[in-house]
Formats: sequence, structure tokens, C-alpha cells
Amino acid sequence: MAVKRDYYEILGLDRDATNDEIKKTYRRLALKYHPDKNQGDGESEEKFKEINEAYSVLCDEEKRAAYDRFGHDGANAQDGGFGFGDIFSDFFGDVFSQPNKKSRRKRGEDLRYGVKIKFEEALSGVYKQIKFNRYEACSPCGGTGAKKGTDRVVCPVCNGTGEIRQQQGFFSISRTCYKCNGEGDVIETPCPTCRGNGRVIKERKLDIKIPAGIDNNNRLKVAGEGASGVYGGPAGDLYVDITVESHDVFKRRGNDIFVTMPISFSQAALGCELNVPTTEGESVIRILPGTQSGARFTLRGKGAPRLSGGARGNEYIDVVVETPTNLGQKQRRLLEELAEENKEETHPLKKSFMDKIKSFI
Ligand SMILES: [Zn+2]
Ligand SMILES: [Zn+2]
Repeated sequence: MAVKRDYYEILGLDRDATNDEIKKTYRRLALKYHPDKNQGDGESEEKFKEINEAYSVLCDEEKRAAYDRFGHDGANAQDGGFGFGDIFSDFFGDVFSQPNKKSRRKRGEDLRYGVKIKFEEALSGVYKQIKFNRYEACSPCGGTGAKKGTDRVVCPVCNGTGEIRQQQGFFSISRTCYKCNGEGDVIETPCPTCRGNGRVIKERKLDIKIPAGIDNNNRLKVAGEGASGVYGGPAGDLYVDITVESHDVFKRRGNDIFVTMPISFSQAALGCELNVPTTEGESVIRILPGTQSGARFTLRGKGAPRLSGGARGNEYIDVVVETPTNLGQKQRRLLEELAEENKEETHPLKKSFMDKIKSFI
């Protein structure tokens, strides 16, 4: 191993140089000998390393003290080595740092697909086959974009660095290479099938499971079924937007189902057993004598299943009392008789209302 030069000598400083002087000198020399400004010049590179090593010791109070007392052994005993790259970027930021080469691998696009299903299918769950076009990896070239048997070659413009450097006064400015888009290599002979894109449009058929309990405007995510990634990147996702057709009888809000059920005036007055529709066939509810229009009956657990599992929602039956119309002669006579028999206690609501009116008329 070559004899190490004195750190102060490397920086051209006196032993009693101040911290500030050390910093300033380092800054000047490091910029002067930076490898990016002296490409291919081995001597400069060595000098640059020397400067960084000297500075890494002299800028640190403890290391400098150890170096002053014991020389190189003292300073280097402090730690195994030093990464001068870190020192340099701590000092200058990343003026010279190599911008990362851009990756040509890109994630595939997410896709959206709309599916319309029947009201009942939303409750029971259903499988649907969907067909759509998407980008998939080109098989002749295996998704590389280079003609089968050929390979990508180092970009002739940037020599594989992905960037073009320009000297601008003191600094060199780098720009993304226009030829390779910063990737560092280019396709010399494009695959004739995909014209170098690495992907082609193909039709995809897919059976998707729509779970029981799905609701209108819900969206399903089918991971990885979007477009294939570019040049081996990950695939995008497929989103399936669900539209549930409305139903003539059943209305749904969340996991509950609502039915509006007309009943006759006499059913409401006398009470009855009433057959009501549910999504799983008929059920029977008991209408008590004197039921009013708008009364609500609950069928527990007859609503929609929950996507998350657990108890189903309820079905609610709202009864509407239908006033008789198109009366025949006999019906009319009977109703007139009934009217004569009507008493206050048979219409408590009406009585209470009339009492209220009387109090201010
Ligand atoms: Zn290039
Ligand atoms: Zn191809």
C-alpha cells in the first residue's frame, strides 16, 4: 500500500486551518476533481478520492484531533472506512449524482367494465361471463418488443446512461436521453407483431363471480385482470361496475327490502291473513282488525344478504287501505247502512280530530 499523503497537504492547508477554511477548500477541490468533470482521467479520480478522504477526517472534530495526535492510524481507527460518496452528496446535494435510469417496465392500465344484473341475481349472487379487449404481452417477442432472436442494444446516443450531459459553466446538467427515453437501451429490430410495443390487443373472456348481496352501483375489483404490464411490468386491475335492474314489486334500500301492499277496506277493518310476496316465495302475515293505511309489518331476515356475511336484512310490508270504487247497487246500499251505524267509538281518530276543531271554531 502506498504511503498516505498528509491530509492537510492534500487540501493544501496549514495545520491550524479553521473549519470554515477546510470546507471552502474542499468544496473548490472536490468540484475541480469530480470524476464527472474529468471523465476517463484516472489521476483526477484518485485525487478526488484523496480529497474526500482527507475532508471526511478533517471536517470531523474528533477524527481531526485523533489524526493530529496519531496520524493516519489514529483517524482510521475511528471507523472501518468511509464512503466519500456520502460526504460529497451531504455537501453538495445531488448535483452530480447519477439520475436513476428510467425503467421501461410499466404497470398495465386499469380497466372498467359495466355489468347489468337482475334484482334477484343481486340477492342470490351470480356468475357472469364478460368479454373485453385489453393489452396483453405479445407472444412472438415474449413482451420484449424486440424481434424474436434479436435483443435490445445499448443506446447509441447516451451510451446506455439514459441521460445526456451538458456542461453549463461550473456544473454539468443532465437531461433524459431523447432516443431511449432514459432507458439506456433501444430496440434495434422491432417485433413485427407488436411493432416494438411488447403488447397487442387481445380479447379476454372472463367468468366473474358476483357475490350475493351486491347492490346497485357497487364496484368489484378483479386484481390483475386489467391490461398486461409494459415490458414485463405488473398487470393493472379490472373494475366491474354493477348495475342492478329495478323490480316491479320489491324496492331495496341497503339490505332491507320494501313492498307496498294494497288491502281492501274490509280486510283492514275485519282483519285477515294476508299472503305477501318475499324474494323467496310467499309468506303469510296477520292483519289485525282495525289496521290503518300505512301500517308496517316486518318480516325479519327476509331482506337482502350482506356482502360481509351475517344476518340478512328485513323485508317491510307497508299496507295501503284501498277505498272501494265502482260500487254496485248492493254494495252501495250496504255501505249506506254501515254509514248509518257508524258511531264515534268506531272512528276514534275522526272524533279526536273533530273535538280539536270544535275548540277553536
Ligand atoms: Zn439513450
Ligand atoms: Zn412483439
